[in-house]
Amino acid sequence: MRVRRGVRWVGIAFLFVMSAAACGTSSVALSDDDDAPASSTTSSTTTSTTVTPSSTTSTTTSSTTSTTTTTTTAPATVDGDLLRDEEGVPLNGQTDGVLITPTGWIAPIVDTSADGWTVWTPCGRTADLTGGRVVEYADFVIDPGHGGNETGAVGPGGLREADLNLEVALKLRDTLVGAGYSVIMTRQTDVRVPIVTRGEIAQALDPIAFISVHFNAGTDAWSDEPGTEMFHQIESAESKRLAGLLYEEVFGYLEDFDITWVSLSDAGAMSRPNREGGDYYGVLRRPGPVTSVLAEYGYISNQAEEELYSDPAVQQQLADATLRAVRRLLTTSDPGSGFTTDPIFRGYGPSGAGRTDNCVDPKLQ
Ligand SMILES: [Zn+2]
Repeated sequence: MRVRRGVRWVGIAFLFVMSAAACGTSSVALSDDDDAPASSTTSSTTTSTTVTPSSTTSTTTSSTTSTTTTTTTAPATVDGDLLRDEEGVPLNGQTDGVLITPTGWIAPIVDTSADGWTVWTPCGRTADLTGGRVVEYADFVIDPGHGGNETGAVGPGGLREADLNLEVALKLRDTLVGAGYSVIMTRQTDVRVPIVTRGEIAQALDPIAFISVHFNAGTDAWSDEPGTEMFHQIESAESKRLAGLLYEEVFGYLEDFDITWVSLSDAGAMSRPNREGGDYYGVLRRPGPVTSVLAEYGYISNQAEEELYSDPAVQQQLADATLRAVRRLLTTSDPGSGFTTDPIFRGYGPSGAGRTDNCVDPKLQ
């Protein structure tokens, strides 16, 4: 299942492209995919044994750790450290457990030595760290979509999807923990974490499920029903079931509100293939084989929904609905419902849409 290499990798920094995605499954310009090739800044001759500190050393509270995109801050980039694909992006499945670093970052563990750990940094490089707390397993990995300079969708009143995702995800974390489950978040503040690293955090912890929290945009099709979309992995029956259960619980909660919704005609639980027939969304493809769902709770591009989702009580109810789906996944054989058998073709998306061609790692310790 996991590609675990038996060698100790020296710390060599590598630059790769970060995935950027605004939600909008109906819009070809908005993709959560992260297949874009690394940019022209991906090669360099300088090696480094440490992560290049960000120009903004603030860690857990910074929204600027990923906004520095000048090439002058590009760290050394050399292949041969982590296993990488032909585009230079690290292959998922090379770590085991995560280190919560002294500055609060979640770093999948590549190797352990007497001196400490070699970790997969947020930007997909390696770094040798001497401090931190090891977490070997979590029941759930909760992934608030977007963050930092990647705002995702933005509502007509200015609500940023990245912020709403985080608010709901934090409530979901607390709700799951309150129910007795262990949870690791891919981000806990307004920072940008590339999708390949989010996927690696999932693989490193091998949770029951990875749930990526999003809100949608990209269509103005008015509807008398919520436009909730739950995307599952094409090949995973458990992912499909979780998506169907999430759809039931979230849709069932939202439909009681008497507002005018935005919804595509095929809204429901569904999958979305890429050109090769695999999962289009990086948040479903990268964590595999971990069971993963991309939850698009509703449309913040719709002003009535934006106002609804801005209410912390509603956010909590969405977290509660998600908990109910999770419980049913684990305690029943309910199949879920709302499955879309013939989804609208949502396009393959432009390669590299919304990405930056740079990634600056934060200070990890
Ligand atoms: Zn999104």
